[in-house]
Amino acid sequence: MSETQQERAGAFDVAVIGGGPAGLFATFYAGLRGMRAVVIDAAPQLGGQVAALYPEKWIYDVGGFARVRGQELVRQMVEQAKRFDPEIRLETRVTTVEGGPEKGERAGNGSPLFRLRLSSGESLQARGVIVAAGVGGFQPRRLPAPGLGRWEGRGLTYFVRSLEDMRGKRVVVVGGGDTAVDWALMLVDVASEVTLVHRRNEFRALEESVENLRRSPVQLKLSAEVVAAAGEDHLERVSIRFASGETEDMPTDVLLGCLGFQADLGPIAEWGLDMEKNTIRTDHMGRTSRPGIYAVGDIATYEGKLKLIATGFSEAAMAVAHLKTVLEPKASLQPAHSSSLKLA
Ligand SMILES: Cc1cc2nc3c(=O)[nH]c(=O)nc-3n(C[C@H](O)[C@H](O)[C@H](O)COP(=O)(O)OP(=O)(O)OC[C@H]3O[C@@H](n4cnc5c(N)ncnc54)[C@H](O)[C@@H]3O)c2cc1C
Repeated sequence: MSETQQERAGAFDVAVIGGGPAGLFATFYAGLRGMRAVVIDAAPQLGGQVAALYPEKWIYDVGGFARVRGQELVRQMVEQAKRFDPEIRLETRVTTVEGGPEKGERAGNGSPLFRLRLSSGESLQARGVIVAAGVGGFQPRRLPAPGLGRWEGRGLTYFVRSLEDMRGKRVVVVGGGDTAVDWALMLVDVASEVTLVHRRNEFRALEESVENLRRSPVQLKLSAEVVAAAGEDHLERVSIRFASGETEDMPTDVLLGCLGFQADLGPIAEWGLDMEKNTIRTDHMGRTSRPGIYAVGDIATYEGKLKLIATGFSEAAMAVAHLKTVLEPKASLQPAHSSSLKLA
């Protein structure tokens, strides 16, 4: 929707910044409470860390699912979030959040009014804001060897979007943490060969996973680093150098870097919110230091905080409930049970 269309349509009741698990649940819950929502995400897809970092992994601690793969959870969360037809903006970063009651900006009915500037150059208005920006934007830590960058998208990758893409391929995984070990173990079922290269002798992963790894067909190259890659249009081999000084060339179709991610909170640190390290301080209802702005999910902190999908869901429901009472003082904080609603 263009800026003028949006102005014509009026302000949103709530702008949700971030479409990860917490933001998607906040979007759904806002709809359930009769609020018109927009969800904005900097990434090209919804689902936050789950979609971007571990779509193929099993998740065991989301209520109601004995286990669920990341991508299936994202599919269900997106379907749920879309139930009340929110507006969705992808590949759009919120750069500033201006206005609000502290600045004396209120809608005609006296409720707060915020103006959000977007990276697209547009702006939009919302009566309440829920920041569900997780760890901010996240970038993979790239393999340090010079010249490897040119293979990105042509054999070198930092994400596994689908295990099927790896079928029959010779895969070299780099890293020594849980992510590298877990991927190596998952890939043995589909790849033709899996090699794990780690610059130390010891892994920083769950003991049980490391034992499984040592019993698996994964070839281990320890005290070693990938120092070069070569091929024509696509990656064909990598060179590994051991601490001893020896080198080895390995035919390779996919080089998967698992060195972790660097989070970048981006502009959020400048929004005048009370921050603690890279998180926003909230109370138990998700209220931040700026009235009308809430924070939920990984980005929110308070005593005893757990950074889990499950806690993000709960925080989202609480923040939406509180915002509802701000926008409509006669509304009840406690929502009706969804099971007593008749939804199509
Ligand atoms: C490898 C791995 C495995 C995990 N396994 C589990 C598990 O088994 N169980 C569990 O409960 N948790 C697990 N987690 C943690 C879980 O993924 C997080 O707790 C959860 O994703 C947090 O959700 P969120 O919505 O708060 O933030 P995120 O998922 O980080 O989503 C935030 C979104 O906000 C967007 N964003 C950021 N800044 C802006 C901006 N300025 N404008 C617009 N958009 C913005 C980002 O692009 C992102 O999509 C795991 C995490 C990792 C990395």
